[in-house]
Amino acid sequence: MQTEGAVTHCPQCASQIRVDKRYVTWCDRCDWNVDPSPLNNTYPDWRQKLEHRLADTLYRELERGAVHRPGWDAARVAAYLLAGLLLLLPLAALLGGFGLLIFYRPLWLSIPLALLAFAMVMLFRPRAHRLDPGAQVVNRDQAPRLYDVLDQIADAIGTQRVAAVVVDMEPNIWFARIGWRVRPVIGIGLPLWVGLRPQERVAVLAHELGHGKNGDVRHGWVVGAARSILGELLATFSDQPLDQYRRDLSYYVNARAPYVSLLTRILNAIVSGSASGYLWLLDKVDLRSSQRAEYLADRKAGEIAGSEATAWALERTLLADSAYHALERAMRFQHDVDPLDAVRREVSAIPAREIERRVRASRIREARTDSRHPPTYLRTKLIRNRPATAASVVLGLDHNAAIDRELAAAGELALAELRREFPDR
Ligand SMILES: [Zn+2]
Ligand SMILES: [Zn+2]
Repeated sequence: MQTEGAVTHCPQCASQIRVDKRYVTWCDRCDWNVDPSPLNNTYPDWRQKLEHRLADTLYRELERGAVHRPGWDAARVAAYLLAGLLLLLPLAALLGGFGLLIFYRPLWLSIPLALLAFAMVMLFRPRAHRLDPGAQVVNRDQAPRLYDVLDQIADAIGTQRVAAVVVDMEPNIWFARIGWRVRPVIGIGLPLWVGLRPQERVAVLAHELGHGKNGDVRHGWVVGAARSILGELLATFSDQPLDQYRRDLSYYVNARAPYVSLLTRILNAIVSGSASGYLWLLDKVDLRSSQRAEYLADRKAGEIAGSEATAWALERTLLADSAYHALERAMRFQHDVDPLDAVRREVSAIPAREIERRVRASRIREARTDSRHPPTYLRTKLIRNRPATAASVVLGLDHNAAIDRELAAAGELALAELRREFPDR
Protein backbone atom coordinates (compact mmCIF):
# COMPACT_ATOMS: atom_id res chain seq x y z
CA MET A 1 0.00 0.00 0.00
CA GLN A 2 1.58 3.28 -1.06
CA THR A 3 0.32 6.47 0.47
CA GLU A 4 0.38 9.75 -1.41
CA GLY A 5 -1.07 12.51 0.74
CA ALA A 6 -4.59 11.68 1.80
CA VAL A 7 -5.10 9.10 -0.92
CA THR A 8 -3.99 5.50 -1.23
CA HIS A 9 -4.69 2.47 -3.41
CA CYS A 10 -6.81 -0.46 -2.42
CA PRO A 11 -4.62 -3.58 -2.11
CA GLN A 12 -7.49 -5.67 -3.40
CA CYS A 13 -8.84 -3.83 -6.46
CA ALA A 14 -6.26 -1.02 -6.83
CA SER A 15 -8.83 1.76 -7.01
CA GLN A 16 -8.06 5.03 -5.29
CA ILE A 17 -9.32 5.42 -1.74
CA ARG A 18 -9.31 8.37 0.61
CA VAL A 19 -7.44 8.18 3.89
CA ASP A 20 -8.54 9.84 7.11
CA LYS A 21 -6.06 8.98 9.85
CA ARG A 22 -8.71 9.17 12.57
CA TYR A 23 -10.84 6.48 10.97
CA VAL A 24 -10.55 3.11 9.27
CA THR A 25 -9.26 3.11 5.68
CA TRP A 26 -11.52 1.06 3.42
CA CYS A 27 -12.53 0.67 -0.22
CA ASP A 28 -15.92 1.81 -1.52
CA ARG A 29 -15.52 -0.23 -4.69
CA CYS A 30 -14.85 -3.73 -3.28
CA ASP A 31 -15.56 -3.32 0.44
CA TRP A 32 -11.96 -4.11 1.36
CA ASN A 33 -11.36 -3.62 5.13
CA VAL A 34 -14.94 -2.56 5.78
CA ASP A 35 -14.87 -4.52 9.03
CA PRO A 36 -11.25 -4.52 10.21
CA SER A 37 -11.95 -6.10 13.59
CA PRO A 38 -14.19 -9.07 12.90
CA LEU A 39 -15.58 -10.75 16.00
CA ASN A 40 -13.58 -13.68 17.32
CA ASN A 41 -16.55 -15.60 18.64
CA THR A 42 -17.93 -16.34 15.22
CA TYR A 43 -20.78 -18.78 14.96
CA PRO A 44 -20.43 -21.97 12.99
CA ASP A 45 -20.82 -21.43 9.25
CA TRP A 46 -24.23 -23.05 8.98
CA ARG A 47 -25.68 -20.77 11.61
CA GLN A 48 -24.33 -17.66 9.93
CA LYS A 49 -25.74 -18.78 6.59
CA LEU A 50 -29.10 -19.60 8.14
CA GLU A 51 -29.39 -16.19 9.77
CA HIS A 52 -28.30 -14.41 6.59
CA ARG A 53 -30.89 -16.33 4.62
CA LEU A 54 -33.61 -15.61 7.13
CA ALA A 55 -32.80 -11.90 7.05
CA ASP A 56 -32.70 -11.86 3.24
CA THR A 57 -35.96 -13.73 2.61
CA LEU A 58 -37.81 -11.64 5.15
CA TYR A 59 -36.36 -8.50 3.62
CA ARG A 60 -37.44 -9.46 0.11
CA GLU A 61 -40.92 -10.35 1.30
CA LEU A 62 -41.29 -6.95 2.93
CA GLU A 63 -39.82 -5.07 0.01
CA ARG A 64 -42.30 -6.62 -2.38
CA GLY A 65 -45.48 -6.48 -0.35
CA ALA A 66 -47.07 -4.76 2.56
CA VAL A 67 -45.68 -5.22 6.04
CA HIS A 68 -48.21 -7.10 8.10
CA ARG A 69 -48.58 -7.36 11.80
CA PRO A 70 -47.22 -10.69 12.98
CA GLY A 71 -50.01 -13.26 12.83
CA TRP A 72 -50.46 -16.50 14.71
CA ASP A 73 -48.00 -18.57 12.71
CA ALA A 74 -46.39 -21.79 13.95
CA ALA A 75 -43.39 -19.92 15.35
CA ARG A 76 -45.54 -17.64 17.44
CA VAL A 77 -47.60 -20.53 18.81
CA ALA A 78 -44.38 -22.34 19.68
CA ALA A 79 -43.05 -19.28 21.51
CA TYR A 80 -46.23 -19.05 23.57
CA LEU A 81 -46.15 -22.78 24.33
CA LEU A 82 -42.54 -22.63 25.49
CA ALA A 83 -43.26 -19.61 27.65
CA GLY A 84 -46.55 -20.99 28.99
CA LEU A 85 -44.87 -24.23 30.01
CA LEU A 86 -42.39 -22.31 32.09
CA LEU A 87 -45.13 -20.23 33.69
CA LEU A 88 -47.10 -23.36 34.65
CA LEU A 89 -44.08 -24.77 36.49
CA PRO A 90 -44.48 -22.70 39.71
CA LEU A 91 -48.22 -23.37 39.76
CA ALA A 92 -47.64 -27.12 39.46
CA ALA A 93 -44.99 -26.99 42.18
CA LEU A 94 -47.34 -25.06 44.48
CA LEU A 95 -50.15 -27.57 44.03
CA GLY A 96 -47.67 -30.43 44.40
CA GLY A 97 -46.35 -28.99 47.67
CA PHE A 98 -49.80 -28.68 49.20
CA GLY A 99 -50.75 -32.11 47.88
CA LEU A 100 -47.73 -33.63 49.60
CA LEU A 101 -48.55 -31.97 52.91
CA ILE A 102 -52.20 -33.01 52.82
CA PHE A 103 -52.12 -36.49 51.34
CA TYR A 104 -48.63 -37.87 51.76
CA ARG A 105 -47.45 -39.62 54.91
CA PRO A 106 -45.21 -40.01 56.89
CA LEU A 107 -44.89 -36.33 57.70
CA TRP A 108 -41.11 -36.42 58.27
CA LEU A 109 -40.80 -37.24 54.61
CA SER A 110 -43.62 -35.10 53.19
CA ILE A 111 -42.49 -31.90 54.93
CA PRO A 112 -39.00 -31.73 53.39
CA LEU A 113 -40.40 -32.75 50.01
CA ALA A 114 -43.05 -30.05 50.25
CA LEU A 115 -40.36 -27.53 51.23
CA LEU A 116 -38.45 -28.52 48.12
CA ALA A 117 -41.57 -27.90 46.04
CA PHE A 118 -42.10 -24.50 47.66
CA ALA A 119 -38.47 -23.62 46.96
CA MET A 120 -39.24 -24.38 43.31
CA VAL A 121 -42.22 -22.01 43.49
CA MET A 122 -39.99 -19.24 44.82
CA LEU A 123 -37.40 -19.89 42.14
CA PHE A 124 -39.77 -20.00 39.18
CA ARG A 125 -42.36 -17.47 40.31
CA PRO A 126 -43.15 -14.83 37.72
CA ARG A 127 -41.79 -11.41 38.57
CA ALA A 128 -43.05 -8.08 37.49
CA HIS A 129 -40.48 -6.18 35.48
CA ARG A 130 -39.21 -3.42 37.78
CA LEU A 131 -37.08 -0.39 37.27
CA ASP A 132 -33.62 -0.36 38.72
CA PRO A 133 -33.89 1.33 42.16
CA GLY A 134 -31.19 3.82 41.12
CA ALA A 135 -33.02 4.71 37.88
CA GLN A 136 -33.39 8.42 37.16
CA VAL A 137 -37.10 8.78 36.56
CA VAL A 138 -38.31 11.98 34.88
CA ASN A 139 -42.04 12.46 35.37
CA ARG A 140 -44.61 14.59 33.63
CA ASP A 141 -44.25 17.72 35.78
CA GLN A 142 -40.50 17.77 35.33
CA ALA A 143 -40.56 17.45 31.55
CA PRO A 144 -43.82 18.76 30.07
CA ARG A 145 -42.30 19.44 26.64
CA LEU A 146 -40.83 15.94 26.35
CA TYR A 147 -44.10 14.32 27.41
CA ASP A 148 -45.92 16.54 24.96
CA VAL A 149 -43.90 15.05 22.08
CA LEU A 150 -44.26 11.53 23.48
CA ASP A 151 -48.03 11.96 23.74
CA GLN A 152 -48.25 13.27 20.20
CA ILE A 153 -46.32 10.23 18.97
CA ALA A 154 -48.36 7.78 21.06
CA ASP A 155 -51.63 9.31 19.81
CA ALA A 156 -50.45 9.25 16.20
CA ILE A 157 -49.56 5.57 16.54
CA GLY A 158 -52.71 4.81 18.50
CA THR A 159 -51.00 3.34 21.54
CA GLN A 160 -51.05 3.99 25.28
CA ARG A 161 -49.22 7.12 26.46
CA VAL A 162 -46.04 6.46 28.42
CA ALA A 163 -46.26 6.42 32.20
CA ALA A 164 -42.66 7.40 32.85
CA VAL A 165 -39.35 8.29 31.23
CA VAL A 166 -36.06 7.01 32.59
CA VAL A 167 -32.74 8.69 31.83
CA ASP A 168 -29.55 6.65 31.84
CA MET A 169 -26.02 6.58 30.42
CA GLU A 170 -26.38 3.59 28.11
CA PRO A 171 -25.94 4.42 24.44
CA ASN A 172 -29.47 3.36 23.44
CA ILE A 173 -33.16 4.17 23.66
CA TRP A 174 -35.46 1.44 25.00
CA PHE A 175 -39.06 0.57 25.69
CA ALA A 176 -40.31 -1.63 28.55
CA ARG A 177 -43.49 -2.49 30.36
CA ILE A 178 -43.05 -2.08 34.08
CA GLY A 179 -44.81 -3.56 37.09
CA TRP A 180 -47.86 -5.79 37.28
CA ARG A 181 -49.89 -3.14 35.49
CA VAL A 182 -47.37 -3.35 32.61
CA ARG A 183 -47.24 0.39 32.14
CA PRO A 184 -45.17 1.60 29.20
CA VAL A 185 -41.87 3.24 30.05
CA ILE A 186 -39.34 4.83 27.70
CA GLY A 187 -35.65 4.78 28.53
CA ILE A 188 -33.47 7.53 27.09
CA GLY A 189 -29.75 6.83 27.02
CA LEU A 190 -28.17 10.27 26.88
CA PRO A 191 -24.96 9.23 25.05
CA LEU A 192 -27.11 8.28 22.06
CA TRP A 193 -29.77 10.94 22.57
CA VAL A 194 -27.44 13.98 22.57
CA GLY A 195 -26.06 13.04 19.14
CA LEU A 196 -29.51 12.89 17.50
CA ARG A 197 -31.03 15.75 15.55
CA PRO A 198 -34.64 16.71 16.45
CA GLN A 199 -36.43 14.66 13.83
CA GLU A 200 -34.16 11.69 14.47
CA ARG A 201 -35.24 11.85 18.10
CA VAL A 202 -38.86 11.66 17.01
CA ALA A 203 -37.93 8.64 14.88
CA VAL A 204 -36.29 6.64 17.68
CA LEU A 205 -39.10 7.43 20.11
CA ALA A 206 -41.69 6.44 17.50
CA HIS A 207 -39.81 3.21 16.78
CA GLU A 208 -39.86 2.27 20.46
CA LEU A 209 -43.51 3.22 20.98
CA GLY A 210 -44.29 1.31 17.79
CA HIS A 211 -43.21 -1.85 19.60
CA GLY A 212 -45.88 -1.21 22.19
CA LYS A 213 -48.52 -0.94 19.50
CA ASN A 214 -47.50 -3.94 17.44
CA GLY A 215 -47.98 -6.37 20.28
CA ASP A 216 -44.73 -8.13 19.42
CA VAL A 217 -44.32 -11.44 21.13
CA ARG A 218 -41.23 -10.21 22.89
CA HIS A 219 -43.12 -7.44 24.57
CA GLY A 220 -46.21 -9.50 25.27
CA TRP A 221 -46.98 -10.51 28.82
CA VAL A 222 -46.59 -14.29 28.48
CA VAL A 223 -43.25 -14.39 26.72
CA GLY A 224 -42.05 -11.37 28.68
CA ALA A 225 -42.80 -13.07 32.02
CA ALA A 226 -41.05 -16.27 30.90
CA ARG A 227 -38.05 -14.21 29.85
CA SER A 228 -37.84 -12.44 33.19
CA ILE A 229 -37.97 -15.78 35.07
CA LEU A 230 -35.11 -17.12 32.96
CA GLY A 231 -33.17 -13.91 33.38
CA GLU A 232 -33.57 -14.10 37.15
CA LEU A 233 -32.44 -17.73 37.20
CA LEU A 234 -29.37 -16.83 35.16
CA ALA A 235 -28.52 -14.00 37.54
CA THR A 236 -28.99 -16.16 40.64
CA PHE A 237 -27.05 -19.15 39.40
CA SER A 238 -24.21 -17.52 37.56
CA ASP A 239 -20.63 -17.56 38.75
CA GLN A 240 -20.51 -14.17 40.43
CA PRO A 241 -17.16 -12.39 40.51
CA LEU A 242 -17.21 -12.80 44.28
CA ASP A 243 -17.58 -16.56 44.04
CA GLN A 244 -13.92 -17.07 43.24
CA TYR A 245 -12.97 -14.99 46.25
CA ARG A 246 -15.35 -16.93 48.48
CA ARG A 247 -13.95 -20.19 47.17
CA ASP A 248 -10.40 -19.11 47.96
CA LEU A 249 -11.39 -17.93 51.40
CA SER A 250 -13.35 -21.06 52.22
CA TYR A 251 -10.45 -23.18 51.13
CA TYR A 252 -8.37 -21.84 53.98
CA VAL A 253 -11.15 -21.79 56.50
CA ASN A 254 -12.47 -25.25 56.01
CA ALA A 255 -10.89 -28.18 54.26
CA ARG A 256 -14.30 -29.54 53.40
CA ALA A 257 -15.49 -26.34 51.78
CA PRO A 258 -14.12 -27.12 48.32
CA TYR A 259 -16.61 -29.98 48.05
CA VAL A 260 -19.45 -27.68 49.00
CA SER A 261 -18.33 -25.09 46.52
CA LEU A 262 -17.90 -27.77 43.87
CA LEU A 263 -21.53 -28.68 44.49
CA THR A 264 -22.60 -25.04 44.04
CA ARG A 265 -20.60 -24.86 40.87
CA ILE A 266 -22.25 -27.97 39.48
CA LEU A 267 -25.68 -26.64 40.48
CA ASN A 268 -24.84 -23.28 38.91
CA ALA A 269 -23.71 -24.95 35.72
CA ILE A 270 -26.84 -27.08 35.45
CA VAL A 271 -29.38 -24.36 36.23
CA SER A 272 -27.77 -21.54 34.26
CA GLY A 273 -27.00 -23.93 31.41
CA SER A 274 -30.61 -25.01 31.06
CA ALA A 275 -31.93 -21.48 31.58
CA SER A 276 -29.72 -20.03 28.86
CA GLY A 277 -30.57 -22.95 26.58
CA TYR A 278 -34.27 -22.32 27.09
CA LEU A 279 -33.77 -18.62 26.46
CA TRP A 280 -31.85 -19.39 23.26
CA LEU A 281 -34.67 -21.63 22.06
CA LEU A 282 -37.25 -18.98 22.86
CA ASP A 283 -35.18 -16.42 20.94
CA LYS A 284 -34.76 -18.62 17.88
CA VAL A 285 -38.42 -19.60 17.78
CA ASP A 286 -39.54 -16.02 17.48
CA LEU A 287 -36.55 -14.82 15.50
CA ARG A 288 -38.61 -14.16 12.41
CA SER A 289 -41.47 -12.48 14.18
CA SER A 290 -39.15 -10.28 16.21
CA GLN A 291 -37.26 -9.26 13.08
CA ARG A 292 -40.56 -8.51 11.39
CA ALA A 293 -41.54 -6.46 14.43
CA GLU A 294 -38.41 -4.35 13.98
CA TYR A 295 -39.30 -3.58 10.36
CA LEU A 296 -42.84 -2.75 11.44
CA ALA A 297 -41.63 -0.40 14.14
CA ASP A 298 -39.34 1.24 11.56
CA ARG A 299 -42.26 1.74 9.22
CA LYS A 300 -44.29 3.35 12.00
CA ALA A 301 -41.33 5.58 12.79
CA GLY A 302 -41.16 6.57 9.11
CA GLU A 303 -44.82 7.58 9.12
CA ILE A 304 -44.36 9.69 12.24
CA ALA A 305 -40.91 11.22 11.84
CA GLY A 306 -40.54 11.03 8.05
CA SER A 307 -38.73 8.22 6.28
CA GLU A 308 -35.47 10.07 5.68
CA ALA A 309 -35.03 11.07 9.33
CA THR A 310 -35.82 7.49 10.35
CA ALA A 311 -33.09 6.11 8.11
CA TRP A 312 -30.61 8.67 9.46
CA ALA A 313 -31.58 7.84 13.02
CA LEU A 314 -30.84 4.17 12.38
CA GLU A 315 -27.42 5.07 11.01
CA ARG A 316 -26.76 7.19 14.09
CA THR A 317 -27.33 4.19 16.32
CA LEU A 318 -24.31 2.60 14.62
CA LEU A 319 -22.23 5.33 16.28
CA ALA A 320 -23.26 4.17 19.75
CA ASP A 321 -19.89 2.68 20.62
CA SER A 322 -18.03 5.84 19.51
CA ALA A 323 -20.42 7.83 21.66
CA TYR A 324 -19.77 5.64 24.65
CA HIS A 325 -15.99 5.74 24.20
CA ALA A 326 -16.08 9.53 24.00
CA LEU A 327 -18.09 9.57 27.23
CA GLU A 328 -15.69 7.25 28.98
CA ARG A 329 -12.63 9.19 27.77
CA ALA A 330 -14.06 12.47 28.97
CA MET A 331 -14.94 11.03 32.36
CA ARG A 332 -11.54 9.48 32.90
CA PHE A 333 -9.17 12.04 31.48
CA GLN A 334 -10.87 15.36 30.82
CA HIS A 335 -12.21 16.57 34.11
CA ASP A 336 -12.93 20.09 32.86
CA VAL A 337 -15.16 18.92 29.99
CA ASP A 338 -18.86 18.11 30.15
CA PRO A 339 -18.86 14.43 29.11
CA LEU A 340 -22.10 14.76 27.15
CA ASP A 341 -20.67 17.75 25.24
CA ALA A 342 -17.69 15.57 24.39
CA VAL A 343 -20.08 12.93 23.05
CA ARG A 344 -21.98 15.47 20.97
CA ARG A 345 -18.76 16.81 19.46
CA GLU A 346 -17.37 13.35 18.74
CA VAL A 347 -20.52 12.09 17.05
CA SER A 348 -21.16 15.18 14.95
CA ALA A 349 -17.55 15.15 13.72
CA ILE A 350 -17.84 11.63 12.27
CA PRO A 351 -17.77 12.02 8.46
CA ALA A 352 -20.42 10.55 6.17
CA ARG A 353 -17.86 8.15 4.70
CA GLU A 354 -17.22 6.58 8.10
CA ILE A 355 -20.96 6.21 8.70
CA GLU A 356 -21.28 4.54 5.31
CA ARG A 357 -18.51 2.10 6.28
CA ARG A 358 -20.35 1.16 9.45
CA VAL A 359 -23.58 0.62 7.55
CA ARG A 360 -21.75 -1.73 5.18
CA ALA A 361 -20.04 -3.48 8.09
CA SER A 362 -23.42 -3.98 9.75
CA ARG A 363 -24.37 -6.20 6.81
CA ILE A 364 -21.73 -8.73 7.85
CA ARG A 365 -21.51 -8.02 11.52
CA GLU A 366 -25.06 -7.72 12.73
CA ALA A 367 -26.31 -10.90 11.14
CA ARG A 368 -24.01 -12.59 13.65
CA THR A 369 -24.24 -10.50 16.75
CA ASP A 370 -27.78 -9.34 17.27
CA SER A 371 -30.15 -11.54 15.37
CA ARG A 372 -33.16 -10.01 17.09
CA HIS A 373 -32.68 -6.90 14.99
CA PRO A 374 -32.27 -7.27 11.24
CA PRO A 375 -28.97 -5.73 10.07
CA THR A 376 -29.16 -1.92 10.04
CA TYR A 377 -28.03 -2.10 6.42
CA LEU A 378 -31.25 -3.90 5.46
CA ARG A 379 -33.44 -1.73 7.66
CA THR A 380 -32.23 1.54 6.11
CA LYS A 381 -32.40 0.00 2.63
CA LEU A 382 -36.04 -0.99 3.13
CA ILE A 383 -36.96 2.46 4.37
CA ARG A 384 -35.26 4.15 1.41
CA ASN A 385 -36.55 1.72 -1.21
CA ARG A 386 -40.17 2.18 -0.26
CA PRO A 387 -42.13 5.33 -1.10
CA ALA A 388 -40.94 8.22 1.07
CA THR A 389 -43.25 9.41 3.84
CA ALA A 390 -43.47 12.92 5.29
CA ALA A 391 -43.37 13.59 9.03
CA SER A 392 -46.64 13.79 10.95
CA VAL A 393 -45.00 14.87 14.22
CA VAL A 394 -42.46 17.65 13.87
CA LEU A 395 -40.09 18.64 16.65
CA GLY A 396 -38.97 22.24 16.28
CA LEU A 397 -35.55 23.50 17.34
CA ASP A 398 -36.89 25.51 20.31
CA HIS A 399 -38.97 22.63 21.54
CA ASN A 400 -35.97 20.35 21.13
CA ALA A 401 -33.73 22.66 23.16
CA ALA A 402 -36.41 22.87 25.86
CA ILE A 403 -36.39 19.07 26.11
CA ASP A 404 -32.62 19.10 26.61
CA ARG A 405 -33.06 21.52 29.49
CA GLU A 406 -35.78 19.34 31.02
CA LEU A 407 -33.50 16.32 30.99
CA ALA A 408 -30.42 18.13 32.29
CA ALA A 409 -31.01 17.54 36.01
CA ALA A 410 -31.67 13.81 35.64
CA GLY A 411 -28.69 13.61 33.30
CA GLU A 412 -26.43 15.14 35.97
CA LEU A 413 -27.59 12.55 38.50
CA ALA A 414 -27.05 9.69 36.04
CA LEU A 415 -23.57 11.05 35.28
CA ALA A 416 -22.77 11.25 38.98
CA GLU A 417 -23.88 7.64 39.33
CA LEU A 418 -21.60 6.60 36.47
CA ARG A 419 -18.72 8.60 37.89
CA ARG A 420 -18.84 6.49 41.00
CA GLU A 421 -18.19 3.43 38.83
CA PHE A 422 -15.04 4.89 37.30
CA PRO A 423 -12.06 4.84 39.63
CA ASP A 424 -10.28 8.17 39.97
CA ARG A 425 -7.20 8.71 37.88
ZN1 LIG B 1 -11.03 -2.22 -3.45
ZN1 LIG C 1 -36.82 -2.13 17.95
